[in-house]
Parts: sequence; structure tokens; C-alpha cells
Amino acid sequence: MGVCLTHYIIPRDNTMRPEPDRIVALIEAWLEAGFIARPGSAALQCLSPHLSAETGATFVIDDWWLQVLEQDKSREPRRTWSQWLAGAPKQAPYILVDLRRAFSMPPVGDSLVALASPSASIAWPINNYPSMGTVYPFETLPDPADNDDYGPSYCLKIDLTDDFKNEFTDNYGGADGFCKQLDTHCNCGFDLIYTRTLQFEEKRIHRSCPECGLPFRPQDRPVEIRDGETGEKHVVPGGVCYRFAIIVDCGKDFPPPEGRNPRASTRFLETCSKALDLELYEISLYS
Ligand SMILES: [Zn+2]
Repeated sequence: MGVCLTHYIIPRDNTMRPEPDRIVALIEAWLEAGFIARPGSAALQCLSPHLSAETGATFVIDDWWLQVLEQDKSREPRRTWSQWLAGAPKQAPYILVDLRRAFSMPPVGDSLVALASPSASIAWPINNYPSMGTVYPFETLPDPADNDDYGPSYCLKIDLTDDFKNEFTDNYGGADGFCKQLDTHCNCGFDLIYTRTLQFEEKRIHRSCPECGLPFRPQDRPVEIRDGETGEKHVVPGGVCYRFAIIVDCGKDFPPPEGRNPRASTRFLETCSKALDLELYEISLYS
């Protein structure tokens, strides 16, 4: 176990979800600037034998899980005898299937459908970026002297969802308690959060209130984030609540210097912002 880092780049208007043509423009801009490898290029051999070696990326449409759930009646909530003795509630067992498919570029067929579907994610694994020859998306580069044979790796992702996703911003807490989280209540008092069952149970937040119809605007709500360097809390409107996010999942490979909040490079941020025609902000979360 160890601390993992996930970096989020989110539209400053948290309610924004770009249209498919803007997302295609973003992916093309990443290819052009070298942040991802071109499908069919020799660089992708680094990913072999993984499915993503075909095009550089994989994707999942969340609705595919609903089809699996429909077919898999064995997933009825249940509990073991010892769980029954302990008074534990029934739980649906996890589904151990991999629904990922290779994401085509340019997007056609299901890859294009994903960009407009209610909820989907696309992932470009970058295993050892120096050997893949891709451009590192952070301000500071890992010291080549620190690199072992298996150099710094990360996964670049696009997360799309009609209703909001929201990440808890403080997994560790501090002497001053936990950070204040997003208030998910509508002004009328209705709690907009609900649970959706896919591979796991996931929380979503309604885009507009089922009771009074008022749209939910995360950016009007203060959320506290803990600074990775000082440990101090600071307020970021909307926190990590989004319908669209660019995610750099670093795992345990932190951009240097470790312990400081990483920043995406100006080139990466400008490439994303220009292609999407959106103002963006960034947040690092530690888990
Ligand atoms: Zn309401």
C-alpha cells in the first residue's frame, strides 16, 4: 500500500459536458502535441499484449454493465452465513468481467457512440513515457536518474457522465478534522445524490432537482481541498464534481518534487482548453 495521486482537470463551469465533436478535437490535439501515441505506431508495442496496444486506448460505456446485470441473475444481493450471524446487510457480489474494448481513432461505431452516451470512460495507459516517446503532461519531469527499467507510468483518461460524479476530497483528514465536502442538497432541501449499480455501486448527483426542477450548480458551492504540500485546507468552488473530466491517474509515480501539489504543464492545459474551447481548473487528490 502507498499513497496514490490522481490529477483532475475540470471545466470551470462544472455543469459543462462537451459535445462529441469537441472531444474528438481534444483527442486529435493530444495526438498532434504528442501527449498520446498515434494508433498503429511502434510506440504502442510498449503496451503489448494489452488490448490498448491496438489503438492506444480502451473504453467502457457504463450501460454495458446494465446488460451484464440483466443477464447475471446470480448477482442478486446475498450474504454468507457468517455475515448473517454478524447482522451484515445483503450485498451484490462483484462482477469479474472486463468490458473494455479498443477505442478507435478517429472514433467510429461504438467508440463514437461512447462520446454521446449517458456515461463512459476512455483510457490511454502510458507505460514508461520515455520509451513510448509521449510528452509528459506535468510541469516538472521525473529525474531520468531516478528511472529504473520500468519508468514513470500513468494513465490519461476522459470521464463523461450525464449526471454529476463527485470525488471525496480528503481521504486522510488532519488535526483540524476532515475537509468540508460538497453539499448535494437542492435549495428546496431535496438531496440530489443517488446510487447507481454498475460493476460497483456508484454515487451520482442529479443534474436538476426531481422535486423542483432547479439545475444543480456545483461551482456555487464551496468545497475544501487539502493542499498536498502544507496540509492546509483551502476552498475550491465545486471541488471535484463534474460531468466531464480529464484525469491523469499517476498511481504511485508522482511528478517531482514529491509532496508538492503537481501542476499540469502550460502546454497540456492550453492544448486541452483550446481544443475544448473551455476554461479549466485542476485539482490533485491523494488516496
Ligand atoms: Zn429542488
